[in-house]
Amino acid sequence: MPHRPRKRFGQNFLVDPMVIEQILTAIAPVPGEVIVEIGPGQGALSGPLQESGAELHVVEIDRDLAADLPQRVPGLEPGQIHVGDALATDLASLVPLPPGQRIRVVGNLPYNISTPLLVRLMESADAIRDMHFMLQKEVVTRMAASPGSRDYGRLTLLCQLHCAVVPLFDVAPTAFDPVPRVFSSFVRLIPHASPPVDIADPGIFQSIVTQAFSQRRKTLNNSLKSLMTAAHIREAGVDPSLRAEAIGLADYAALAKVMAHYASQPGGIHGS
Ligand code: SAM
Repeated sequence: MPHRPRKRFGQNFLVDPMVIEQILTAIAPVPGEVIVEIGPGQGALSGPLQESGAELHVVEIDRDLAADLPQRVPGLEPGQIHVGDALATDLASLVPLPPGQRIRVVGNLPYNISTPLLVRLMESADAIRDMHFMLQKEVVTRMAASPGSRDYGRLTLLCQLHCAVVPLFDVAPTAFDPVPRVFSSFVRLIPHASPPVDIADPGIFQSIVTQAFSQRRKTLNNSLKSLMTAAHIREAGVDPSLRAEAIGLADYAALAKVMAHYASQPGGIHGS
């Protein structure tokens, strides 16, 4: 029986051979490297990835699709098919790797879980050589945004803290079946060899960014009130009359550094 696409799993299968070729050219898989594909679906990308001679592992939540994969992708062995939720899978330790080797991650991602998945992947960026994803175009715009734009926000800072974000090309809805309502973009993420800014306390960095963008129309002086004073913001070299979207990654790192410094003093930051 033909597979009925399941909306809850974000199933929009790639059917345009030109787009599939463009994606494979961008990934340029070679024998010997380990590639983990999230959501292989009916194997549109898994087939050519497996053919390339790379060691492919796939993580698929839909049991029916996973069961069909060995017929759809010649040579794909049961040990390469991991049935489960990519959000609950430690992709970095799916395959035992020799020291120093890192995985490549690819996927035409289910759009309904793309943000939590990106958050999770950023946490394991050390174990990843690069990532190539098809995402909703708006999500890629947010990931690659610059300060001052309305797309700039938490996702931008999270992605750019861990990776270089390289948008590659846009893809029209007609490249998929069923046809989605939105445009897509294909993006490359390359984890930084060393962090672009020094974040001593990721928890504090995260809470400042979250707080600042939860009230993005307000000045930092107002939005960060519960965390730090205007004097602390100035001490970080940041103008407290600016809004969250006006300052860059290095400014957020400087704010986090000042807050971490005072938080470690007796009485915490409000005692300073
Ligand atoms: N790669 C295929 C293609 O390009 O045609 C399918 C892409 S489709 C947009 C997304 C795929 O991810 C589906 O096969 C879906 O079942 C799978 N999926 C959805 N949620 C998932 C999850 N949490 N973990 C793993 N796979 C998931």
